[in-house]
Amino acid sequence: MEKHLRKSTQAVWAGEDQFNAYGAATTPIFNSVAFSYKDLDHWQDVALGKAEGFIYSRNTNPTVRALEEKIRVLEGGEAAIAFATGMAAISNTLFSFLHPGRKVISIKDSYGGTSKIFLDFLPQYGIDVELCDTTDHEQLEAAIARGCDLLYLETPTNPTLKVVDIARLASAAHAVGAIVVVDNTFATPINQSPLTLGADLVVHSATKFLCGHSDAMGGLLTGKAALIQKVYQFREINGASLQADPAYMIARGMKTLELRIERQNASAMQIALWLEAHPKVKQVFYPGLASHPGHRVASLQMRGFGGMMSFSLDGGFDKVQKVLPALKLTHLAASLGSVSTLAGPPRTTSHVELTEEQRALLGIPESLIRYSVGIENVEDLIADLDQALALI
Ligand SMILES: *Cc1c(COP(=O)(O)O)cnc(C)c1O
Repeated sequence: MEKHLRKSTQAVWAGEDQFNAYGAATTPIFNSVAFSYKDLDHWQDVALGKAEGFIYSRNTNPTVRALEEKIRVLEGGEAAIAFATGMAAISNTLFSFLHPGRKVISIKDSYGGTSKIFLDFLPQYGIDVELCDTTDHEQLEAAIARGCDLLYLETPTNPTLKVVDIARLASAAHAVGAIVVVDNTFATPINQSPLTLGADLVVHSATKFLCGHSDAMGGLLTGKAALIQKVYQFREINGASLQADPAYMIARGMKTLELRIERQNASAMQIALWLEAHPKVKQVFYPGLASHPGHRVASLQMRGFGGMMSFSLDGGFDKVQKVLPALKLTHLAASLGSVSTLAGPPRTTSHVELTEEQRALLGIPESLIRYSVGIENVEDLIADLDQALALI
């Protein structure tokens, strides 16, 4: 796939020209566990990686391979591998590089499942974890300078859309020889290219914007080939592989990625401005707003500000309980990044296990609503929000 092609072209064509048997106009779903060989020498060459081919679908599969190629090209990586879920991609990556005595530095606002790995699982294996205040770059740089093996970032974060300066922290991490991993789920490769900003690996929950239709789960990892190879060897045995069916669904969703993200960027910006001017809304968290503390860095490292935002209401959780169920064009659900608008309070979704005080420490108001803008008509979405906010 030629590098000069723009993202919309890459999203449609990358990975699609290799396994289209009989000239199929889309990569077929290869629901085959194993691939057979008549020539035993050829079989052995493929098994040893000396020839191209497929052996067993826990390791490689043509439909999955086409998807891996798509994310590789879109993110500008050297290699890519797919996983059963986003959490499989994240946990396999962390466990491939972290061993007893090693150290990982990350931010306090990472995705809930990722936080759980940092707080509960890694310490059990004698791995040192240091979580810094997400927006305190001086504290992060100082922690990195004391030494670490892996820096794990996520930007914008969930649910208050905090922005982390990837280039700045990647260069601090490289100065101490650490690997830099960035979760690019919220931004997608349309809005942000962490590898270009200095990251070594980019991880995705493909379940969200990449698939885009809330109908398949998957995880993707791309970046430096030598690092991908290491995670591949771990996944091969760990077994958290993606199946051909969801791989097809995700690749199909990704063909419209740029169309969807451009619409979601524009609608989210319009809704954020509208909410910011609404008397019942206390604060809007969207990196596209000049009022957002991360706006300057976001403007430098992002091409668009994304379809995710959150806003707090004037009042407590009782107001959220009135407004959310009144929304007609919104699924009240835990996921995000779909063609349909989704919303939920962090209090019952991403941060349900924390106490009110812990949420307050993370800067998450009890009246916060996380809102994932879909591709519906933006005037319809604003009218829907308007009638729901009128109830409080
Ligand atoms: C959803 C999500 C994940 C986990 O992905 P799954 O596919 O649900 O396992 C990781 N990171 C971010 C930012 C997410 O939104």
